[in-house]
Amino acid sequence: MIRPPLPADEAARQATLDAYRILDTPREAAYDDLVAIAAAICDVPMAVITLIDHDRQWFKSAQGVDGDGTAREVAFCAHAILDPGETMVVRDARKDARFSDNPLVTGAPNVRFYAGAPLRAANGQPMGTFCVIDDKPRELEPAQRTALEALSRQATRLMELHRISRELHLQIEERGWYEQQLLHYQQELENQNADLEEQSLTDPLTGLANRRAFSRTLEQAIVQAHALGTPLSVAIVDIDHFKSINDLHGHAEGDRVLQSLGAMLLSTEAARGRVARFGGEEFVRLLPGRSLEQAARESEYLREAVAAMPTGLPVTISIGVATLHAGEDASSLLSRADQSLYKAKREGRDRVCALP
Ligand code: GH3
Ligand code: MG
Ligand code: MG
Repeated sequence: MIRPPLPADEAARQATLDAYRILDTPREAAYDDLVAIAAAICDVPMAVITLIDHDRQWFKSAQGVDGDGTAREVAFCAHAILDPGETMVVRDARKDARFSDNPLVTGAPNVRFYAGAPLRAANGQPMGTFCVIDDKPRELEPAQRTALEALSRQATRLMELHRISRELHLQIEERGWYEQQLLHYQQELENQNADLEEQSLTDPLTGLANRRAFSRTLEQAIVQAHALGTPLSVAIVDIDHFKSINDLHGHAEGDRVLQSLGAMLLSTEAARGRVARFGGEEFVRLLPGRSLEQAARESEYLREAVAAMPTGLPVTISIGVATLHAGEDASSLLSRADQSLYKAKREGRDRVCALP
């Protein structure tokens, strides 16, 4: 018996086979059908789709042959793959020096005739063979050879399909996992952002309460004012021609003016949260217990104090005042204060306007 030598590029061949991940997979009807067709066409009792692994041949599908493989050194197919482009035909194994004393010849299944068409992967590497076997010597008719080779290609295509579907499945799984992770991170980020927003109740430039914080204070004050029947006023303070300060003296100077005004407002604040930076160059004051007239008067003091602020720049403000009506809500109250402010601007700025 001549032991089959290893193909020159055995490592690449083995790697190609391994990539199909087909070794030791369960029996499949699709392969069994091809094997049955081969046995019928070639009129033989045995047909096998066998793959050559490191030191064994493994049967993906077999008809008329027991077990799921043999040692590689006795495998006819290990010889057949040495010429991957050719179907190897052995008419009578007893008369072939390679096989005459092979245990598969001298004992069961008493191989005499063998024809194996290599299973060639897309890269040309032979992974095993599609073979037909008889326990009597015989010939392989040209039409049978053609059919066997066609069936070998079909078996290879099946393997290819399984490989691709497996890879696709993995890719889809992986993508699903990444999407899941992404969703998770996005959710976490959104939660964090919500927390941060919730936590930020202070305007970083001036240190005053921001609009969000002010809204809460205002809502509470309104509930209280309605409940107790006490007056409640608000004053919206807007710096006049602030854009020109930025334009003429720079943004940093503009920031300093905002900070100075913030500090001045803070000095008038009786309780935390009652003055706030409303946005941009607008501030707001909550004046609980003050009627429209009282609020207007206090606003007038503020306007004068700001005009006298030692900022080195001619900074003036306009103020719009409004007092809570019966049953009125925050947005309506603020909107009326805004109308007053608009009127103060229209009438020439540097003034207080208090619409009833
Ligand atoms: P008006 O007298 O009608 O109120 O005119 P104005 O220029 O004060 O009002 P306008 O709304 O046209 O411009 C407000 C400017 O305030 C525009 C914006 O660039 C500036 N601003 C808003 N926030 C900041 C800030 O945090 N720092 C600085 N430096 N500028 C700001
Ligand atoms: Mg403004
Ligand atoms: Mg302004």
